[in-house]
Amino acid sequence: MNYISTRTENSEKHSSAFVIKKGLADDGGLFVPENLPELSLSDIESLISKSYPERAAYILSLFLTDYSREELLSAAEAAYSVEKFGGPAAPISKVGDDYFLELWHGPTSAFKDMALQIMPRLLSLSLGKTGEEKDAYILVATSGDTGKAALEGYCDIDRVKILVFYPVNGVSNIQKKQMASQKGNNVEVFSINGNFDDAQSGVKAIFSDNSVKAKLAENGLFFSSANSINWGRLAPQIVYYVSAYCDLIAEGELKAGELLDVTVPTGNFGNILAAYIAKKMGLPLGKLVCASNRNDILTDFINKGVYDRRREFFTTVSPSMDILISSNLERLLFFVLGAEKTRACMNKLSSEGVYSLSDAEMELIRADFAGCACSEEETAKTISDLFGEFGYLCDTHTAVAANAAAQYKKEGGNKMLIVSTASPYKFAPAVLSSLGEAVPEDDFDALDKLFAVTKCAIPKNLANLRSASVRFTKTVDPKEMVDCII
Ligand SMILES: *Cc1c(COP(=O)(O)O)cnc(C)c1O
Repeated sequence: MNYISTRTENSEKHSSAFVIKKGLADDGGLFVPENLPELSLSDIESLISKSYPERAAYILSLFLTDYSREELLSAAEAAYSVEKFGGPAAPISKVGDDYFLELWHGPTSAFKDMALQIMPRLLSLSLGKTGEEKDAYILVATSGDTGKAALEGYCDIDRVKILVFYPVNGVSNIQKKQMASQKGNNVEVFSINGNFDDAQSGVKAIFSDNSVKAKLAENGLFFSSANSINWGRLAPQIVYYVSAYCDLIAEGELKAGELLDVTVPTGNFGNILAAYIAKKMGLPLGKLVCASNRNDILTDFINKGVYDRRREFFTTVSPSMDILISSNLERLLFFVLGAEKTRACMNKLSSEGVYSLSDAEMELIRADFAGCACSEEETAKTISDLFGEFGYLCDTHTAVAANAAAQYKKEGGNKMLIVSTASPYKFAPAVLSSLGEAVPEDDFDALDKLFAVTKCAIPKNLANLRSASVRFTKTVDPKEMVDCII
């Protein structure tokens, strides 16, 4: 399987190891497989009796054809082990008539673990496959959750080092403690005196600093990124849709071949794009419902055909969806409309902040997608209703999806899979307040109180955090970030 860029017709073709190492194409586009592998109903049925790591190795082997099945299986077994996930990697809870696919049982209790537990292993293997002599040095600027998930994913992976910067007053106490207590011999964490933008600009400046690159090269290292647009982060996300379908057949909830609708709480469009790819491979999925919070740029796009980022940005209780540029949408444009049109749209987006598609083009997109948005009030009410009616506690992002699914289902549809992307304990203050409870000042007290009120289990990594020992305490000014390298 070869990979091409979303922005150039007949662009150069590359192996999967190359694109995982490289990240972004030279023309600024994203890498996509040249064609999508097929998944027949009998392929799917043959996966029903398999474990999650075996399913992952099978699906990934269709895309990463320059990795051996043994390599993929051992990477998947290490990434999705029972020790790390406390059980199967992506379990389903039936709530009323709907199925919640819980993607947050990993080591940081967030869905980013599903990709970040395996991607670093794929990157590490790619170095050998591409004849790279230097080791990879990952730099991350984070506003919270991605930094921890990346640290946990890269921790003690061969031939990579990771360095994370976060704004000293821009993350919650829990997020700070999670990063400051990170284990591993190849990790380093600094806070900076500044906000997230300062951290991000600092990292960008370091990436393009030739003297730093030279210093790295002398030490046998090169810069790489843990960016969410890397194909190595997207491919593992296709697996859990196939896996969920297998589990629903096994549990007698679905007949083989029966269509299943899916609702995804969407930010950067990676998760829902993985569902689209699974569908195009042959997984019997019906409508893919893109759920937005108050930042409803994607639902507006799907419903009106205009992607317009010239709008007010809102801070919401579902912060991982507070995004105005959904990078992975570019891959959908490519699959539906081709490279030339994709390049034109991306150029218009960067020069004018807006692009629009014709009705005929939008019909192609609407054949697979629907968009529904959810207000802050509806998010809170959904959390409270699901807990009151079913005793099911969900986080704010999942609540946006559950509300969007309910809106969509008014028109009918198939059985519904709702993608759940974070443990409710990751957003304990907002969840408590949705339940009508007073919110304690201290984050850790909020965790304890959410447990006292709901009796739902606290994930182990969060329960142990209060007493975890702190390893990283240094705070630097943005201009000193460059001195933290190596
Ligand atoms: C990252 C994230 C999302 C958004 O996923 P995309 O793939 O960026 O659309 C939703 N919920 C949570 C909790 C996340 O961390």
